Order: sequence, then structure tokens, then C-alpha cells
Amino acid sequence: MRRLKALTKLPLKCIPVCTLIAFTIFSFVVIHSSAKEFYDVVILNGRVIDPESNLDVVRNLGISNGTIKAISSSKLEGRTTIDARGLVVSPGFIDLHQHGQNEENYRYKVMDGVTTAFELEVGTGDVDRWYAERAGKAAINYGVSAGHLAARMAVMHDPPTFLPTGEAARRAATDAEIEEMKRLLEKGLQRGAVAVGFGIQYVPNASHWEILEMFRVAARYGASCHVHMRNAGLREPASSVQALEEVIADAAITGAPLHVVHIASTGGPATPKLLQMIAEARSRGIDVTTECYPYIAGMTEIKSAIFNEGWQDVFGIDYKDLQWAATGERLTKETFDNYRKVGGYVAVFSMTEDIVEGALKNPLTMIASDGILENGKGHPRTAGTYTRVLGKYVREQGSITLMDALRKMTLMPAQRLEKRVPSMKNKGRIRIGADADITIFDSQHVIDKSTYKEPAQYATGIRYVLVNGVTVVSDGQLQSQVFPGRPVRAPF
Ligand SMILES: [Zn+2]
Repeated sequence: MRRLKALTKLPLKCIPVCTLIAFTIFSFVVIHSSAKEFYDVVILNGRVIDPESNLDVVRNLGISNGTIKAISSSKLEGRTTIDARGLVVSPGFIDLHQHGQNEENYRYKVMDGVTTAFELEVGTGDVDRWYAERAGKAAINYGVSAGHLAARMAVMHDPPTFLPTGEAARRAATDAEIEEMKRLLEKGLQRGAVAVGFGIQYVPNASHWEILEMFRVAARYGASCHVHMRNAGLREPASSVQALEEVIADAAITGAPLHVVHIASTGGPATPKLLQMIAEARSRGIDVTTECYPYIAGMTEIKSAIFNEGWQDVFGIDYKDLQWAATGERLTKETFDNYRKVGGYVAVFSMTEDIVEGALKNPLTMIASDGILENGKGHPRTAGTYTRVLGKYVREQGSITLMDALRKMTLMPAQRLEKRVPSMKNKGRIRIGADADITIFDSQHVIDKSTYKEPAQYATGIRYVLVNGVTVVSDGQLQSQVFPGRPVRAPF
């Protein structure tokens, strides 16, 4: 009050006219903006589901600078308005297991609702180069592990194939080679690799000691070990039960967190037993998690060690249960022998619907795709994993609730990584301050369209996807030339 009096006492001619005008405009702007915040994007009247807080109500979201700024039941205004009436507004899906990491694959991922895709099983041998190759060119967020396979292939001078086909696939390592692999993993972790990746079944002569040594490196950096286990199926010796004992022991000995990849395709009929073992290990305080995908077939490289002598007994299948990805044909002994010389992807029908549904229903499993498409060829899981869970298993079969399905796609994968990668605390959640990675879908119509014969089919029902606040899918249509994806990396 006293100050106001002082101001009014000033002779008017002492204040230049332009200052007066500026003051008037300034006070108008301040009053206006404090009365009503104006956001970059608002998402109105959607059914907002957040598995961390268990929120499941109609709300409006306000987004600015790539961040969720408001979650409100009152009307919000923004430069862009998305009408989400009748749609579910969820945290964007996080895929911990996506091999295909290029423009082609990211298009199918985002149309399946994925906003962050990690390559953590196979990983890379050159972390800096891997991130540099994607910078500014990615529709979704991306991240990678330091890969034991890559380290082994480098040390043994293998040809630069995706999975080992040279000496790394065939022989044991010397102590000096194990030391060199440890050095390579350590270098990757020092450059911000998100985790450490393993494909032990692809390098069957890697000793138990070699794998344990790699876990020791991971433990020093608090990095989770994402493991494709040494053996599949139930047949003893060399069962998946024994394989899980190996890596749970490694986690217990070293303290490294363990994440078992595609538990159903490795476990087959042993899957319920493996899930029981993981639950028991967790109850003893060992940090073990796992993932699965909603398909009864896996897919891998026909030249890999998985198809070494005796594969039929391991998986309990025969040639007819293999489907050649390039043509869709089922194999015979003759065509198998031919293709094994040439190389390429083959679908392996080794699971049943009961195995897949049992794994999905288990509260321990996250959803992860194991996807890769190359020029439109590959496994339907690349383009359909998340919409298939939402359409077939949530809506049609009622196998799990929508909230539980979304938890397995968002919060759980974020939590798996957030100790080493603190930025993951701002993903997988609809929370003020969280990254605006948001997937908006029609729960009544969402479904996968990709098949084994035609894997490169966009899913339907994903209506809008925002990545760091930028719209990548709008009204069900992929927006071209939009690359808001950012690297997800551990501090380095
Ligand atoms: Zn695998």
C-alpha cells in the first residue's frame, strides 16, 4: 500500500511514455499467463492409466517441452489438442528386447505403441558408434547393452555377423581371451551401455567360469545381465532348469541383477518350473526378472549353434515345425540342410498356447518382443507383440487385466533399468515431471495384423503416440520424417 502511494506520488512526466507502455503490456501478459497455462500439447478426456499409482480415470494431460506438466480433471488448453475421448492414455511401451534398430523397425514398433526400444540381449561391441549411428534419425528412444557375444566374436576374430558363426560359436576361450572380453565389456559400460547382454546358447563352449567372469564385470557397474540361457527345454542333462540354475548362481555369487530373456521360448514345457525358480530366488533376495512374447514360435538364425546336432530332442520338434522366414515354407530334412549352408531366419514352432498364456499371466513377466525385420521379412512379433497382448489376451481371452498388461509393458521394464539408468525413472509412468512418451489406443479395437507369412503389417488401434512430447502417430497414421527419439544411456 505504501509502495503504491509512493508510485502515485511520482510526477507523471518523470516516467518516459515508452516505459509506461511496456509496463502495461508486461503486466497484461503476466496476469494472462498465470490465469491460464498454455501447453504445447493437451490430451483431453482420455482414460488415463498409470500402473505406478494405479490411476485409472478420465483426465486431461498438459505437455510442454517434452514433459508431462499437468494431470487434471479441469479443461486444459494448448497449441495442439488431442481428443482422447473413449481412448486409453497409457505410458508409452518400453521394449527391453528389440534387435532391429533402424528406421524400418522403428516404424513398426511405434505403430505397435512402443516409444522406447532396447537391444539388450545381443547388444553391441561399440557403444559410442551404436548411439552415434541413430542420433537424430530415430522415431523412438533407443538404447543398447555391451554384448558378451560381440566381445567374444571380436576376441576370436569372427566374421561380423549378427550371431556368431565362426570360432566364437565353436570353441572354448583361453584365460587370456576371457580377460580381453572382460576388458571390452568394461569399456562398453564405461561408455554408458545400459546393461550386459548374453546369448549363451549361441556359444555353447563358453565355460561356466567365462560367464561368471562377465557377471563380475556387470556387478561392478550395477548393470543387469540380460541372458538368453545356455539350454532350452526339459531334457536332462543340459535342460533349461540347469541353465537357470547357472545364471541364478552367477547373480547370487556376484550380486549382478539377472534378467532372463524370452522365458517361454527357452523353457518350452519347463516354463512353469522356471517361473517358480525365479519367484523362489527373488524371495531369497536375489534380483531376478524375466520377459516373454505372445507367440508360440520363436525365430533365430538357421546357421547358429541352436541347430547343432540333437536340436529336435532339445525342443521336442521336427523339421516340419520350422518355417523359413523368407518364403513362409515349412522345412524338410533336405531344405533344412540347404538353408543351413546359406543362412537366414527360421521360425521355430516350439511352444503351445498354454505355455504362452501361462507365462503372460505370471506376475513376474514383462512383455518384450525379441523383434527384428529385414526388408519386411522376419517374425510377426516385431510389429505385433504389444497390440496382440492388448487385443487377444486382454480383450478377447481375458487372460490378464488391462492394468496388469500395461504394467508389464511400461513400469516393470522402466524399473528393471532405473538403478543403473536413472533417466528411466521418468519413463513408464504418467506422472507430472515424467517424459511425455505416451501411447493412446482404442482398447475395443486394438489388435496385431502381422503374421508369419506377412510380418511387416502395421498393428491397428494405436491412435496417437507421443515421443518426448512430439506426435509420431496421429489419428492412427504414422507421421513421416519425425525423429524425436533420444538415446537412453547410463551416466558416463
Ligand atoms: Zn534370444
